[in-house]
Amino acid sequence: MKIVKTEYIVVCDAGFSVLKDRAVAFSTKIEKIAPFYELKAEYPDAEQFEFGKGSVLMPGLINLHTHLEYSANLSTLVYGDFIDWLQSVITHRDTLADSCSEVCIDDALKSMLKSGTTTIGAISSFGKDLKSCAKSQMNVIYFNEVLGSAPNAVDAMYMDFLDRYEKSKEYESERFIPAIAVHAPYSTHRVLVNKVLAFAKEEGAFISTHFMESRYEREWLDNGGGRFGEFLKRFNPHAAPVNEPIEYLELFEGVKTLFVHGCYANDKELDLMERIGMIAHSPRSNRLLGNRRLEIEMLKNFALVTDGLSSNYSLSLWDEMRAAIMLHQKAPLPKLFKSLLLASTHYPAKLYKLNKGSVEVGKDSDLAVYHFDDIDEKNLAQTLLLHANEPKTLYIAGQEVKVLLL
Ligand SMILES: [Zn+2]
Repeated sequence: MKIVKTEYIVVCDAGFSVLKDRAVAFSTKIEKIAPFYELKAEYPDAEQFEFGKGSVLMPGLINLHTHLEYSANLSTLVYGDFIDWLQSVITHRDTLADSCSEVCIDDALKSMLKSGTTTIGAISSFGKDLKSCAKSQMNVIYFNEVLGSAPNAVDAMYMDFLDRYEKSKEYESERFIPAIAVHAPYSTHRVLVNKVLAFAKEEGAFISTHFMESRYEREWLDNGGGRFGEFLKRFNPHAAPVNEPIEYLELFEGVKTLFVHGCYANDKELDLMERIGMIAHSPRSNRLLGNRRLEIEMLKNFALVTDGLSSNYSLSLWDEMRAAIMLHQKAPLPKLFKSLLLASTHYPAKLYKLNKGSVEVGKDSDLAVYHFDDIDEKNLAQTLLLHANEPKTLYIAGQEVKVLLL
């Protein structure tokens, strides 16, 4: 048992509560929140940590969408336009994947821990990140990705997916959850989507899919034309859309799904995605790939994600929150600060019913302590958003992660 006392606790519950002069007693789960003296009397054998003035305790951050296998990218991929970027990914996919060794993936995971992230969703295309994710201190939802638009390749692609999924199941634990990602409606044949989703339902697996990231995807799925058409027809002259947008979304009914991007989704699609699951928003990736701003003001809530280093320059959710402030320039700031913090903690936890994402009794003890030289209770969310980078101390399931040694 440990007792941590900070000046403030930013709970990250739906009402964005802040507690002052309270301490938290925890083992793997949070046992009690009360004044420090009370907890010291109740748990006399607990290790005690008293952080002084300017200290803030909050839940570890949750980043449900990243692509670790592309972490070697610094300047290889072309930014500015989605199709140009996709072309550069296809050209350099193998070299990039080969140049990201286990050490490179370990470093990416460490950088996330260092920025206070305690749970991630890792989209795995090849299974190269499996060992790093399984042995990391991080909580990992490991999304084995499936794709394939050619009808005659459906069985082979499904078998390849199943093989990777079964391998990931060997590492299943409280901290490592095998899951499933369907790549996108333009790349995954309806028959394959159906097959994988039937399997996901049997397994009770978490699901994620990209949807309407670029205007080219919109044009292609709506009328089979545009630059996506030209691009895909280079691989297959008879290429035609393999899904209709609304029908594609309806396939996910009954499975809690994270829909990633949605920048070009229409109102009906946004409503449907919010009813089935939740939308993931990655402002920096969208901007770098030339995609328009997701209208977050239209959403009930969303999960903030960094995407991978294939379309970003860091995997820090603090950097992502700061970019979001600049991208959503018309959003009233105090409200945006809070909603971005909840989009990095409480909301993503809620989607998959993870017992995480807020500092409340009974929740997993994934906690981060930050320190600021000057802090004002009225501006706590603002201070965190603008100045938080690395926590002083980080706990996952009650165990300290030596952040400074990473
Ligand atoms: Zn992605």
